Amino acid sequence: MESYAFPGNIDQYIMEIGAQPFMYMRTDAFSEINKESERILLDLIHCSGGRTIIYTGSGTGAMAAVVENYVSTKQKAFVVDGGSFGHRWYEMCRYYDIPAVDYRVPFACDIDYDDLEAQIERERPDVFLCQHHETSSGQLFDLARISAICRQHRVSLVVDVISTFLAEELNMDALGIDICITSTQKGLNIPPGLSIIFLGRALEGYPFRHRGYYWDFASNLDNLRRGQTPFSPATILYLQLNARLRQLQAEGGELQNISEVRHRAQVFRTHCRKYGWDIPAENPSSAITGFQTSDNEERRIFKRLMTDFATYIMPSGREGFYRVSHMGLQTDEALARLAERIHLIEVS
Ligand SMILES: *Cc1c(COP(=O)(O)O)cnc(C)c1O
Repeated sequence: MESYAFPGNIDQYIMEIGAQPFMYMRTDAFSEINKESERILLDLIHCSGGRTIIYTGSGTGAMAAVVENYVSTKQKAFVVDGGSFGHRWYEMCRYYDIPAVDYRVPFACDIDYDDLEAQIERERPDVFLCQHHETSSGQLFDLARISAICRQHRVSLVVDVISTFLAEELNMDALGIDICITSTQKGLNIPPGLSIIFLGRALEGYPFRHRGYYWDFASNLDNLRRGQTPFSPATILYLQLNARLRQLQAEGGELQNISEVRHRAQVFRTHCRKYGWDIPAENPSSAITGFQTSDNEERRIFKRLMTDFATYIMPSGREGFYRVSHMGLQTDEALARLAERIHLIEVS
């Protein structure tokens, strides 16, 4: 099997952890592992003096946690809605009855930052919710510009970096981001099941609300202070996370990983050009390549890759538009072979 869908091809060493006996979680040994994971995570995202919460639950769970505990303390949210993930922030605000502005950005387009600033001046929100990368299209947003607008207008910035952590450069301190979230099946390239909240130092002592028992920030932070979780963690995943973080550190940190992801994206995109596939994103992230084929039969390429080649890519709701992740292990040769197979199915 080959996978170009999240989390992609996973390192054998990490996979094998999942097949071995594992420790009981209410032990000092498990606590030490989690405290180390927190230190490395904060380092990789440049969040000095910050805190993390590692939840058993997917990225959307962490998004809901942020809305319950933090966004619900605010008067008005402003959401960048550039696709299905951006729209999810808006739906969550509505779900919890939090006034929110739904700022729509067309498919695969960048934000018009001057217009964005004008809207912020008009709407006067106190919290800004966006994605770093709208994974449904491949469009990367400019966090430096967003951060400058938020600083200028004193709006708290919350960013879903689920698909850019370890795939794009990201510095929470420099950007003044209050909260970032990610999950394990994207840039971390381990199985799905954990999500991570990064809380900037500025939120130390913040009066978070208590609107969701399982995701409660206060109880999770209290427990994590001693390396524990309030409820049963997915122990194996926490161990795989720790092993992966140590591996990242040993391999040269986030920049090394980011440059590998970028290289894979560049390689695959040369094949896209060769076969005439348009990449609609105005400013594409290296995390994935979203490309338009001429396939007009629903998910045909996706299905044939699975049946004929035991290979996964990611389909979408748009005819002929597919996505290939660059966050798992993949060689230049494998990417060339993948593109050739897609081409052969397309013209067959
Ligand atoms: C994958 C993804 C999510 C959702 O994460 P789940 O782990 O599937 O809940 C949210 N936002 C972005 C930008 C993503 O790429």
